[in-house]
Amino acid sequence: MEVCIPDNASWIMKAIMQHRDGIHQNLVWIEMLNASKFRMKKMYMAVHDRAQSVVWRTLFYGNVARPRALVNLWLACNERLATRDRLHKHGAIDTTRCCFCNADETQQHLMFNCSETKGIWRKVLQWIQVDHNPLGWRHEVDWIIQQTKGKGGRAKILKLAFTECVYEIWRYRNAVSVGNNGLNQLTDEKIIDNIVYRGWTNRKLRTHLAKLMM
Ligand SMILES: [Zn+2]
Repeated sequence: MEVCIPDNASWIMKAIMQHRDGIHQNLVWIEMLNASKFRMKKMYMAVHDRAQSVVWRTLFYGNVARPRALVNLWLACNERLATRDRLHKHGAIDTTRCCFCNADETQQHLMFNCSETKGIWRKVLQWIQVDHNPLGWRHEVDWIIQQTKGKGGRAKILKLAFTECVYEIWRYRNAVSVGNNGLNQLTDEKIIDNIVYRGWTNRKLRTHLAKLMM
């Protein structure tokens, strides 16, 4: 249960090992420990079923963000954004350096451990009157899931804001990454504009947004 995942492990083994915490409590695992033969397929199916009921799924319920921002969030939740650490691993680029600072560009860093992107998310949160100091990706996903459990307007606006923010930051990063810094200062204002624009169509959200705009 404690061993580091070896680089040369097969993909199926890696998938199982990545879900160890869940497996630990899993009946299939307990059953397997007592069985005379370990069956990899059975174990994989147990992991797979669990992965299907992912906790971040709730972020998509009643989320009124733009479809392209939702797709981007889905990719991010699956940790599939083409960040430099991933591109480097596949041999596509030479550097893993973040385009805003000296750290390695991982998704964990970019959303929102990087001072540049942290500042943007923070400004958006301040606009919706939420005092929160952003941390890395996994922490932020956990935090946003916790914060958006209810069905009220605040939860809906937070979900919308998070989705639009992840999308615009990713676009901003892509632009800077190819040497175009033009989008710079506008990013947080653009996100807020999109929150208002998308939220305005919903009567319940309109009331909340109107208060924030005063
Ligand atoms: Zn950075």
